[in-house]
Amino acid sequence: MQKPEKPQNGDPRSRPNKAVFIITFGCQMNEADSEDIAASFRRRGYMLTEDIKKADAVVVNTCTVRQRAEDKAISQIGRLRKWKLAKPEGKLFVVGCAAQKLGGKNLKGRFPFVDEVVGAKAIESFEDALVTQLGPTPETETAHQNLFRSPQTAYVTIMRGCSLKCSYCIVPAVRGPAVFLSPAAVLKDAADKIAAGAKEIVLLGQTVNSYKHGQTTFSELLKEVLALPGLERLRFMSPHPLYFEDDFTALLGRERKLARYIHLPVQSGSDRLLKLMRRGYTRSQYLALLSRLRAAAPGLAVSTDFIVGYPGETEEDFQDTLSMVKEGRFTMAYCFKYSPRSDRPEMAATLSEPGIEARLEKLLEAVKINSRVILNERIGKIEEVLFETETYGRASGNFAVRVKAGGEPGKVARVLATGAEKNSLMGKVL
Ligand code: SF4
Repeated sequence: MQKPEKPQNGDPRSRPNKAVFIITFGCQMNEADSEDIAASFRRRGYMLTEDIKKADAVVVNTCTVRQRAEDKAISQIGRLRKWKLAKPEGKLFVVGCAAQKLGGKNLKGRFPFVDEVVGAKAIESFEDALVTQLGPTPETETAHQNLFRSPQTAYVTIMRGCSLKCSYCIVPAVRGPAVFLSPAAVLKDAADKIAAGAKEIVLLGQTVNSYKHGQTTFSELLKEVLALPGLERLRFMSPHPLYFEDDFTALLGRERKLARYIHLPVQSGSDRLLKLMRRGYTRSQYLALLSRLRAAAPGLAVSTDFIVGYPGETEEDFQDTLSMVKEGRFTMAYCFKYSPRSDRPEMAATLSEPGIEARLEKLLEAVKINSRVILNERIGKIEEVLFETETYGRASGNFAVRVKAGGEPGKVARVLATGAEKNSLMGKVL
């Protein structure tokens, strides 16, 4: 969650406020939901705090994508017993995917000090839970406060749930099938966030490029958001390889405000495992898609996700994943150990924990070496950088860029990359 802001003189928030402490586990969807939840509290005059002792309300936004994430959320709720004992009038809300999976009755039975449970499928009704606990929303608070961690980047959710059935994934079960927000709702949310100071919008969804609402396709929606005045850059995540149409490739080729960066989860480099995972594509189909996208947008940066230790993963499968790092030319990859789930005994891990650990380390090393090579290849090239400060910004390809001077916060400038250090490019504003 974002850092609490200091109230300014004359700001209605400069009077003594109540405070809310928000703990977010999991993915960007949860981050976005937590920002909406923060906004609901703000409308009631609550400040965000990072000090639980000062909190009058606590929200735990849970994740269940892996058993470990669920366990972490549960122990976090357990630890809040102490806070509730010290502040019995404080309100505790448990929301998100683990809340959906475990259910309100179960959670309240286990943790009777929890006031409200709102599952991920019903997250839009969080406001109702607030009304139950805190009374109706006052109408006097300002509507367009800056609600984002980065003053320049705002998330806009365009869909919820997922209609695919990847074998390892619990999202469709807890969030339900894909539901798309209307273009009008998406545009309003994006426009409000731009009015509040955002320069960069990130459209979010589990299979974000599968968006379809009436006649509006994903590419049509992108075009409409791109036309919003004040927007400097548009990103989206996470797309699925199955849903990129030709109209998207054409748009990517011509729209400079559409970031030259895609996070495109591949999960494995082995056709055998991709089939078992029910991903719907083969290694060569995925690579052919990358070639098409890169042909349309030269210099496109692509990052990905890998799962290591999927049940039955052989050394050969793992070698296929390792070789994919180089072949896919990924700038970065999130690498996860396969997480067996107690409710899916048929999907138990077949490799020993040290065996999975060893493969994970090898993969991480390969990703690190590859990322360095890709970063070095950018030296001598020109990057379009959206500056956050005078000396720091992010390239369209999502590389961190540092310059000695000359950046204008909130504006895009052309920067010649002159060197690389750790994970950043060094450069000179042109
Ligand atoms: S696309 Fe697959 S991994 Fe992603 S949310 Fe849907 S089922 Fe899960």
